[in-house]
Order: sequence, then C-alpha cells, then structure tokens
Amino acid sequence: MNTIEKFNSHVMKSYGRYDLVLEKGEKRTAVDENGKEYIDFGSGIGTNSLGFCDDSWVDAVCTQVKTIQHTSNYYYTKVQADFADMLCEATGYSKMFFGNSGAEANECAIKIARKYSFDKYGKEAERNIIITLKNSFHGRTITTLSATGQDVFHNYFFPFTPGFIYAPANDNEELVKIVKENENKVCAIMVEFIQGEGGVVPLDESFVKTIEKICSENDILFVADEVQTGIGRTGKFLAGDNYGVKPDIVSLAKGLAGGIPIGVCLANEKCSGVLTPGTHGSTFGGNPVCCAGGIAVLNKVTSEGFLDEVSEKGEYLKEKLLEIPEVEGVDGMGLMIGVRLKKGKAGDICKACLENGLLILTAKEKLRFLPPLTITREEIDKGIDILKNILKNI
Ligand SMILES: *Cc1c(COP(=O)(O)O)cnc(C)c1O
Repeated sequence: MNTIEKFNSHVMKSYGRYDLVLEKGEKRTAVDENGKEYIDFGSGIGTNSLGFCDDSWVDAVCTQVKTIQHTSNYYYTKVQADFADMLCEATGYSKMFFGNSGAEANECAIKIARKYSFDKYGKEAERNIIITLKNSFHGRTITTLSATGQDVFHNYFFPFTPGFIYAPANDNEELVKIVKENENKVCAIMVEFIQGEGGVVPLDESFVKTIEKICSENDILFVADEVQTGIGRTGKFLAGDNYGVKPDIVSLAKGLAGGIPIGVCLANEKCSGVLTPGTHGSTFGGNPVCCAGGIAVLNKVTSEGFLDEVSEKGEYLKEKLLEIPEVEGVDGMGLMIGVRLKKGKAGDICKACLENGLLILTAKEKLRFLPPLTITREEIDKGIDILKNILKNI
C-alpha cells in the first residue's frame, strides 16, 4: 500500500484531500514524496507564519523538547510565563488562557462571556445570548458550530448549543435592532474582523465602531475571533488595530506558534478575573514546546519593521493579482487575501496550481492566499506567474 491508500484505510474520511503527500519543507517551499517542489501561498491555513522549519523556530522548539516537553497545569514553567508576558506586552491585554486550537480559544471566550454576566447579573437574569455574524466561522465543536452563522454547519449533530443569534455583517441598523429586541439578554457580540472561511470578507469600519459603541453602552462584551487574522496576518499585530478598537476578549490560534498546536484567549482587565480555579482547563494547554515555538514567532513578528513588510508585501501581492486579466477583484488586508475571479471555479484553479507547483487555498467562491509572513517578493512573483498561466488557459 502507498501512503494515500494506507491513510485512507485507517483514517476517517472527514476531509476532502488532494492526492498529494508532502514530505518536507524549507522556508516557503514544500516538497512532496517524489521531490517535486511547491511554492507555499497557504502556510497550512495560516499556521506556518514563519514558513517551513525557520531556523530560530526550529532551535527554540528542539531545545524545549529536549529540556522538558510537558508538565500539566498543576505546575509552573518559565517558558509559559515568558510567552504569556511577551504576548500580553505585544497585544496590551492583561491576562490570557492557554488552549490548543482556535475552537478551544473560542470556547474559552464564550465561557468567559457567559460567566461575566452570570457573576454580575445573576442566574435569573439569563443574560447569556451571544450575537455572532452571518457567514462567520468559529470552529468545529458543537458550541463553536452553534456560534458559526452559516446554516450548512447546523446539521446532523442536533441539538446544538442554544443562545446564539446571527446578525448580518456590516448592517448597523439591524445590529442595533437585534440588541434592542433582546434587551438585557445579550452578554457578548463576537466577530471576525475579516471573515476568513466565509470568503475573506472584511468588516466595515463603521460597523466595527457600532459594535464597540453598543458593547460599551450596554455592558456587553466585545469578543474578537482573531484565530485567522491575528499575529501579524493583516499587517498589524491584531486585526483590531486596523480599526483602532480594543475588544474585551480576543481569541488567537492558527499562526501563533508557527505550525504547532496552540490557542489562547486574551482578556482585558474587565473580564480577566472571570475564570476561577476549576471553572476551565485543558490538559495540553500551554504546552511548553508550543510556547517555545510561540516565543520564536513573537520575536520575529514584533521585530522592528516586520509588520510594515507584511503590509507592503500584501500591497505588492494585491497589485500583481489585479494585473491578471481574469481577476475581477481582491479583498482582504496584509497577507490575508481573497481573489474574485471573472471565470473558472476556485476549486479547479486550486487543483491546477497544485499540479504546477503552487499551494493555494479557497474560501467560498474565491481563491484565498495566506502565505507565510516571511514570503519574499521573488516568491510572490514566481507564484503569480504560475497562477497567471493557469488563468490564461481556462
Ligand atoms: C480556523 C478558525 C477557527 C477554528 O480553529 P481550529 O484551530 O481549527 O479549531 C476558528 N475561528 C476562525 C476565525 C478560524 O479561522
């Protein structure tokens, strides 16, 4: 049996996969089992923020794995403390909780949001509704699926967690109306600043400001799911910085540890004391190896000029894309970019790119680019040339 046959005979078929076995990677290039090379415009869905096997990241992770790999959360480790210190410093938040994934970070955010109102207003107040947006994506657990505002995700697994209401993105009046209709019942509004899985759809500045205003006027918590947009992806450390807002709670995951599992939930002073001993936990949460990887990522992403480079490379990539005749338009910020096509199916183009040595992603009907933050202009040029030729021939 070859790898694909062996895999499929033992692993549940919960994903649609390409017939490609990746064996290794270096910087922004992946190599398959036959030695064929691929330029990486997907970074493992925005996780390999420093590319494949970045030297400083490899050193940090290997050193940690040889020193102490796991302790449980009964004890303290220096690497966790250092990572938390750096992350709070970089983001301006006061405290954080460690998990292992985006869904887990969002579960934590949801628990904090509900307990904040429970503690303050009491059980009888039933102040537990969380407003999320239509076309959002918040994860694959039953509760984060419930939070996800897309009907396609609300199937098979009934009953879903109650208490979520979906508002249309970028509709200020409708949001105000929904909050009014549910007066004193809403504990949080949770959004992605750029809907990633939903098709790279950025929120309007006026909508974000409306959320901020409603939240502060009604003691509703503003929760930002920055699992995909965080850690420099949009050219700012947090995507919220592009809008000049500071949500009460922020979840991070994907790119945070450079391609190993991590998820964190950050909270400001107002709700950083909500979780008390015994109210939440995660066995692997804050794993020292992942924290060491996270420190290596933070060292790079917060270094002088790094984020400006992300913005400039993002602009460069957008310009190059807009020069392609078959491209109708581009959306997104920094190195989180969605491409609208005049013709062709995103899935087919993605597959053709693969055959020609380029890894890209799709989101709804768009092509989606989430290259490593360390991608070079030369690599962008090479990838764009491959895409251009494919689009020309469809
Ligand atoms: C990927 C993603 C998640 C889920 O993260 P997992 O690590 O797969 O659990 C949640 N929210 C957003 C915005 C995401 O992009």
